[in-house]
Amino acid sequence: MKRIFKSLKFVLPILLLAGYIFLTQILGPKVDSKMNAVLDHNAYPVSKAAQALHDELWIADLHADSLLWRRNLAKRHDRGHVDLPRLREGGVEFQIFSAVTKSSKGQNFNGNDADAPDQITTLVQAQLWPLRTWGSLYERAAYQAQRLQKLERKGEVHIVRTAADMEKTDRLLGLLLTEGSHPLHGDLEKIHRLYNEGYRAMGLHHFFDNELGGSLHGRSQAGLTGFGRAAVKEMNKKGVIIDVAHSSAQSVRDVLKITTAPIFISHGGTVASCPKTKNRNLPDDILQEIAARGGLIGIGYFSGVICDITPNGIADAIIDATVLLGPNAVALGSDYDGTVTTSLDTSELAAITHALMQQGMSKENIRKIMGGNARRFFTENLPTE
Ligand SMILES: [Zn+2]
Repeated sequence: MKRIFKSLKFVLPILLLAGYIFLTQILGPKVDSKMNAVLDHNAYPVSKAAQALHDELWIADLHADSLLWRRNLAKRHDRGHVDLPRLREGGVEFQIFSAVTKSSKGQNFNGNDADAPDQITTLVQAQLWPLRTWGSLYERAAYQAQRLQKLERKGEVHIVRTAADMEKTDRLLGLLLTEGSHPLHGDLEKIHRLYNEGYRAMGLHHFFDNELGGSLHGRSQAGLTGFGRAAVKEMNKKGVIIDVAHSSAQSVRDVLKITTAPIFISHGGTVASCPKTKNRNLPDDILQEIAARGGLIGIGYFSGVICDITPNGIADAIIDATVLLGPNAVALGSDYDGTVTTSLDTSELAAITHALMQQGMSKENIRKIMGGNARRFFTENLPTE
């Protein structure tokens, strides 16, 4: 018996180390690159004129789930869509980092049960996140903010907390967004706690109905609950900007009835541009109302929200959105690292500028869509202090 314990003393650490290496160095990266794939492609054309314009643009992207993955964002990787070196190569000044905290097995656009087995729990455990995140959606959101705070302490990013922060130019600006408000666990106080962690935007829903009301991909298609209305009012009061990317049409109509601030869609598209996206994109008349009231719609780069995911196809979707909503309401909303397949990673964004130019969009409008609109929207709607 004693001998068994003695040998365990040597074997156990080796087994633990082997398990750790397997999870973090082999399985983790493999899952990451499979879930956040880029299609094989040759370098996309970028004319000299397009590159020159691209180099002087202030560029913003409204949605990337990069904090979900065990990837040191300070280093360049050959997997996934986003890290700081690739953001710099793509000329990006402002990136919204969205925090996914729950997503159900068999997730689809047409209808998900709120109590279906959650896959983020498995991911969180396999990536060896702190124990406190295993059973709490709030802690998962807080932990993702803390990952960005760590990069901020190292001088890699500025976390945008006030309108004045939008003026900073020496590092990437990162704004924190929750993908859904289930991390509140039905408690308004958690809006304040997430605000203190740095969150300045909150999505109301993800793929399932939650305490706030109906998701676009949930079962009920209901509007806001009493708690949902109270949360919207609290967010308005606090200066937290509301994202309705995955909310049901009725929920969005209810938000529009009571919100005192413009709202946005961090990643989506228009049904006018691609009719088959009507189970993922909100009806165009809702987008028009969001736009008319000073809001913003980020165009995603993945099938589900647009018909053709090549740079030319993304440019088509942007131009169609501009026709529907006007040039002041459209922005980039990639959904990078959101378990989607794209045709390009963030280092290649000049290909979109090129395609927009090629298709005859004016420099003035390209400037707005690639980042100018987002800069105005967040400067106007973020807290002043
Ligand atoms: Zn999403």
